[in-house]
Amino acid sequence: MIPPAKPIMEKEEKEAVLKVLESGMIAAGPKVKELEEKFAQLCGTKHAVAVSSGTSALHTAMYAAGIKQGDEVITTPFTFVATANSIVMQNARPVFADIREDFFTIDANDVLERITPKTKAILPVDLYGQPYDVKAIREIAEDHNLKIIEDAAQSVNASFEGKKTGALGDIAAFSLYATKNITSGEGGVLTTDNDEYAELARRFRHHGQSEKTRYEYYDIGYNYRMTDIQAAIAIEQIRKVDEFTRARQKNAAMLDRKIDQIKGLKKPATMKGATHVYHQYTIRVTEEFPKTRDELLSFMRERGIGCAVYYPKPLHLHPFFLKMGYKEGDFPVSERASREVLSIPVHPAVTEEDMEIILKALEESQNE
Ligand SMILES: *Cc1c(COP(=O)(O)O)cnc(C)c1O
Repeated sequence: MIPPAKPIMEKEEKEAVLKVLESGMIAAGPKVKELEEKFAQLCGTKHAVAVSSGTSALHTAMYAAGIKQGDEVITTPFTFVATANSIVMQNARPVFADIREDFFTIDANDVLERITPKTKAILPVDLYGQPYDVKAIREIAEDHNLKIIEDAAQSVNASFEGKKTGALGDIAAFSLYATKNITSGEGGVLTTDNDEYAELARRFRHHGQSEKTRYEYYDIGYNYRMTDIQAAIAIEQIRKVDEFTRARQKNAAMLDRKIDQIKGLKKPATMKGATHVYHQYTIRVTEEFPKTRDELLSFMRERGIGCAVYYPKPLHLHPFFLKMGYKEGDFPVSERASREVLSIPVHPAVTEEDMEIILKALEESQNE
């Protein structure tokens, strides 16, 4: 089986972990600091704060940006659940806006429709590894005095007009989960240029204590710390991030050429000015294709190709969000996307032979 995702752990990661184990300092220590420096450098931000997961990075970002009870945050329903949950964790309300047909990212025009006096922030997602519509969202944020909290969980090393994700809003959250473009098993990083947000984030991950004055609790906090074991792995992964990204882009380009030749399949589009890092290579299976999306999914799986659907149902149609008053038909572009999308493996562990198998299967999928 060609898996939908596969972490690449080599000699460097293994040796780095052993060194940490032998050092005796296995919780947060010098490796976490080093990771933060390297991550900030990668994104071109003033600060990076390492935490225990992408979800805790999002929650911490919400807190640092001052999101609280009674506030509304506008986000996309076509994402992983943690995006919207992070808003609820701060007792604020997730207000969904539909996505763009072409890029699967939040639609600025629909965001405008959802702004109320309670709106405090926009939480766009760099879905599948492509930056959100930076120009349009930034303009709205400036006009309405809203903060931009970027969910960059899938987009490490992507950029828009030369600026990396993580630096595209006021504050951003990355995930280092096992399936992400770089990983430490579990882990997360928050990035920002804002000194105050960084300080609040450092407190929040550590029970509300400042690193300068321990055992002085300023506000609610959590244990969202990362360990030096995880940080040591992540540092080695950062060294390889350009190599990993190029492998994904190369595989994506091969798939682009094939998908272009197949009637009824639509390749993913990249926004002008953006670089896409293909956390997922996601096509649309339209009505013009002889198989349904689910039939194509089974066809590929039977040939040992780990295709997958991200996401089979937009968030507003899940019980938790239905309870908030959302219903079928509220976000038609997202609902259609969830019926049409199919992700094909392009990660760096996909070999040239694997690519040949995938391309051949796609070719044959039109006929059989
Ligand atoms: C993976 C992911 C998260 C959550 O990250 P974890 O590290 O699994 O907590 C949040 N948002 C998106 C878009 C993701 O893909």
